[in-house]
Amino acid sequence: MADRVLVTLDGVVRDPDAPLLCADDLAAVRGDGVFETLLVRAGRPCTIELHLSRLQRSAEALDLPEPDVVKWRNAAEVAAKQWGTEAEGAMRLVYSRGRESGGDPTAFVTVGPLAERVQRARADGISVMTLARGHSTELGQTAPWQLLGAKTLSYATNMAALRFAARYEADDVIFVSSEGRVLEGPRSTVVIERGRTLITPPATQGILPGTTQRALFEVAEDAGFACEYAPLFPADLITSDGVWLLSSVTLAARVHTLDGLVMRRSARADEIVSLVDVAVESIGASK
Ligand code: PLP
Repeated sequence: MADRVLVTLDGVVRDPDAPLLCADDLAAVRGDGVFETLLVRAGRPCTIELHLSRLQRSAEALDLPEPDVVKWRNAAEVAAKQWGTEAEGAMRLVYSRGRESGGDPTAFVTVGPLAERVQRARADGISVMTLARGHSTELGQTAPWQLLGAKTLSYATNMAALRFAARYEADDVIFVSSEGRVLEGPRSTVVIERGRTLITPPATQGILPGTTQRALFEVAEDAGFACEYAPLFPADLITSDGVWLLSSVTLAARVHTLDGLVMRRSARADEIVSLVDVAVESIGASK
């Protein structure tokens, strides 16, 4: 089992410690590119087809050349195999506009160990702080150049929000729009429980469509949950039976404290965790 993996889009396994990018790569100097993060489990890239579809949509939003999905799928499979079956890994697919001086886009896949916070969030849940995102739910529609629905490499403000929250001892963040609507986490989708109904804000409100939430909704419907896309206010979080932050690597993190308020654990919590687990292993497996 490798402890870190680097595979370029041509499927070649590279030394993860050898330099790969040039100093004028637009990923490095502008954050001008797109990426995906996904879980490697049992030597397989989970929900890879959902991630490849979103990579295509993100690339289109940035006017990048259309990604060659066959090559990306192959590179992801090579990298996952290289990582091995012993432990879960965090895979990134990175696709930038390439060098400022011209040439082809930059495209590579990496796999590394899960951050320590991941196991903690899965097992114990997380404390969350709501923070203003500073824009309206309409920005995605009125200003498409803001790229709100694309997973771009420009994550500096998302990381800053997490550092801000950490100063107040919160593990994570839920962004709220200027109208006071719940949006998403800096690296996750918000889903609430109301009895056997699961609700998430619609992607048309300027948020990234989450692959984990989508996979969960597919299996949850079969398990007798009603799944809805609907606008949410912070009060809906507080009065819900459970708030979850879903993401590809952490999977399901239950919010145990929201803005200092302790949230109870519903009788369905274990079922939701299992459904997410089943979902990421069964939905969007490699074609
Ligand atoms: N929203 C944002 C801003 C994210 O960065 C992420 C994941 O990285 C998500 C939502 C959740 O998406 P996924 O479930 O595909 O990981």
